[in-house]
Amino acid sequence: MSEYFTMPEGYRCPLCPTHDDDDFCWHHLLSTPICRACSHEIINLVNDEKRIDDSALDQLEAVTGLSYEELQVAVLMPEIRHKEKILKSRDFAANHQNSPQFELDEWIEMERQELARTRRMVAIAKARIRVRKKAEQRSEKEIP
Ligand SMILES: [Zn+2]
Repeated sequence: MSEYFTMPEGYRCPLCPTHDDDDFCWHHLLSTPICRACSHEIINLVNDEKRIDDSALDQLEAVTGLSYEELQVAVLMPEIRHKEKILKSRDFAANHQNSPQFELDEWIEMERQELARTRRMVAIAKARIRVRKKAEQRSEKEIP
């Protein structure tokens, strides 16, 4: 879980610099504090196979210099590892269940499906990155 802290007056979250925030946490990708809302939002921003139109996502790409697919890999790989760990045993899953409205087995099944969906999305993103790199190498060779 993220630890939140305050920043000196005037510090703005790099993903939503148009307004003031109170709580910040460190983000491994940006190596700078981002606000609480963005820290929750960052997974949702890259959690679609097709890029959504969102100003925070524009900012995230600009600040990191990464493409949408590269962001998907960077943000979702830790999520995949986290879920894999949780789903390793039933006891572990019981300790991490954060949706009390579901039966444990029901929740585990939902998490399994979400894990499979996320793995598939990251695999597609990696394939797209590879294809783009190859195309770039080809066009570099063509330059005399
Ligand atoms: Zn923010």
